[in-house]
Amino acid sequence: RAKALGRNRAQLFEAAMHDQARERLELENALRGAVDAGEFIIHLQPQVDCKTGQIRAAEALLRWEHPVRGLLPAGEFINVAEETGTIVEIGTWVLEESLGIIGKLQGLGPNFRLSVNVSVRQILAPGFVDSVEHALEKTGADPKQLELEITEALVMEDIADIAPKLAYVRSLGISIAVDDFGTGYSNLARLKALPIDRVKIDQSLVRDISASGSSRTIVQAIVSLAQGLGYESVAEGVEAEVQQELLTLMGCEVMQGFSIGRPMDEDAFFAWAKIASGMPDISMSPQDHHA
Ligand code: C2E
Ligand code: MG
Ligand code: MG
Ligand code: MG
Repeated sequence: RAKALGRNRAQLFEAAMHDQARERLELENALRGAVDAGEFIIHLQPQVDCKTGQIRAAEALLRWEHPVRGLLPAGEFINVAEETGTIVEIGTWVLEESLGIIGKLQGLGPNFRLSVNVSVRQILAPGFVDSVEHALEKTGADPKQLELEITEALVMEDIADIAPKLAYVRSLGISIAVDDFGTGYSNLARLKALPIDRVKIDQSLVRDISASGSSRTIVQAIVSLAQGLGYESVAEGVEAEVQQELLTLMGCEVMQGFSIGRPMDEDAFFAWAKIASGMPDISMSPQDHHA
């Protein structure tokens, strides 16, 4: 009986593995067609000034309107897109779409910035710099209103190939942020070798700052280091008011997280921003709205 049970378990296990492999294949195939099918959408999450609470920027976060599974956050498919290389095509779409959104959000003023995640694979692909310049020309967006976010752990692996491309893009007026900072095991001193403007402190560190003294120490060290190098610090994953207070005391400049605002579609974001900025009369640029 025990043997039979064992065999059943093995069969179940194999069946589960089979299901997983099939699901993964289905995801890969569906991802390939998703750009052309118009199934992607950008959600926007606000970033506010720690001291004044004023809106400073938004992060563009990719969402997939999956025909069967519903709205999927990036975390559920971006790894597959990176592994299969589809991220290069998706990334080009994200960039153009985001620059188009900047055009619609001119009511928030010329200093409002939109921050777009780019994967290292996308930066290393030939034609990355061209695709950025092309998207700027096509949309007429101001490069000063665009920021690119690159994950720390990945950027450090390929720093020699990536730094010159970032430097070029930055010379166009685009700003650069290092994402998920504090999770990689990079030498902090190497940060100064990167042509960047902002450091985004990873959510895992921010989450613990009220409960853990060591997390507090690490976050304070990152904020001080960033300040010393002339970079702004942005805390991500802020979920509680006590975290907001601690971050502000530490000298962190900008924060982002559920307790400030969740990622929203562009209409909801614009409505949120109008209230947050005390400008109830402004409207989205009509010529571009839902073009
Ligand atoms: P990220 O850039 O570090 O983005 C932050 C992630 O945390 C987002 O998940 C966001 O929805 C979520 N988040 C924001 N505030 C909070 C909070 O207070 N608490 C918690 N628990 N989570 C919060 P999402 O949208 O699933 O994205 C996951 C990752 O996928 C992103 O991490 C980014 O690395 C990547 N990603 C998203 N959009 C794009 C894109 O257009 N292109 C590329 N290459 N990567 C993207
Ligand atoms: Mg990001
Ligand atoms: Mg990330
Ligand atoms: Mg992050």
